[in-house]
Amino acid sequence: MTRSYEISFEIFPPKKTSSIETVYDAIKNLAQMNPDFISVTYGAGGSRQSNKTCELASLVKNKHHIKAIAHLTCINSTKDQVSEILTDLKAHGIENILALRGDRNPDMEETKDFKYAYELVQYIKENGNFHLYGACYPEAHPECESYEKDLLHLKHKVELGVEHLITQLFFDNEIFYRFLNDIRKLGIHQPVHAGIMPVTNLKQILRMTGMCGASIPGKLSKVLSQYFNDDEGLYKAGLDYAVEQINDLIAHGIDGIHLYTMNNPKVASYIIENIDK
Ligand code: FAD
Repeated sequence: MTRSYEISFEIFPPKKTSSIETVYDAIKNLAQMNPDFISVTYGAGGSRQSNKTCELASLVKNKHHIKAIAHLTCINSTKDQVSEILTDLKAHGIENILALRGDRNPDMEETKDFKYAYELVQYIKENGNFHLYGACYPEAHPECESYEKDLLHLKHKVELGVEHLITQLFFDNEIFYRFLNDIRKLGIHQPVHAGIMPVTNLKQILRMTGMCGASIPGKLSKVLSQYFNDDEGLYKAGLDYAVEQINDLIAHGIDGIHLYTMNNPKVASYIIENIDK
């Protein structure tokens, strides 16, 4: 049966090279769930791992025959470095890039070549033939002075050649629907893939919401307090919250669901089995 929406998974290269086998296994298991694409993060957490992003994206595409999206950040890169990566991606047959600015890291020098993701979008469009994805923020990017300004910056980025958008994780669908409505009114008509992170433990949710500022709606807050001292209960209730959240998005005609899998195929598999087809 064909779905009315796309399903995609996000994975990240391991920090230690010794853990790479675990990610190979995760990709193999995720590929069996027939996602529309798998995306591979770049340098998240500080270190530059372009070769691993390319290697894993290539594995997704060339071994498992699933569309691969390579994330690429620019704030710490020169144009020459980006150029090298584009050449590498092309050589591995990767056709899709999620073009990002990257988070500021006090331990890494910011180059003068790129300040914002739109400049990377522009550079890739001028120097390579790739389909471009871009990030968007239903609750506004934390650095932007206002939600309205953030939307205008998003519109500018999209107009330069972004063909699909993937959202920052969010837990409150009402916030997402307001965002979707606002960007459509602004004339942004690209498909939007909703970024969903199933809550599987308390530490993870505190870390993630601290980093990206996602609001916790009352319903999720209740789940978190109910299972505060019960890891197993929270794991199951967190997955069920994600399933309910996704089913509501599907009922509202979502373009795509992008699961932040945390390299955990078990979590992805539970979600895929339980959401509405
Ligand atoms: P931009 O679109 O450049 O926006 C950043 C800020 O600049 C916003 O506040 C925006 O409003 C503002 N801005 C944009 N244009 C202008 C302008 N002309 N003038 C003034 N202000 C402007 N990080 C990683 O390191 N690796 C990853 O693999 C990774 N994957 C991600 C995947 C997704 C789906 C998402 C949502 C985020 C991901 N990130 C990743 C995090 C991302 O790099 C950060 O959120 C980063 O802080 C912003 O990136 P961006 O591409 O959205 O930046």
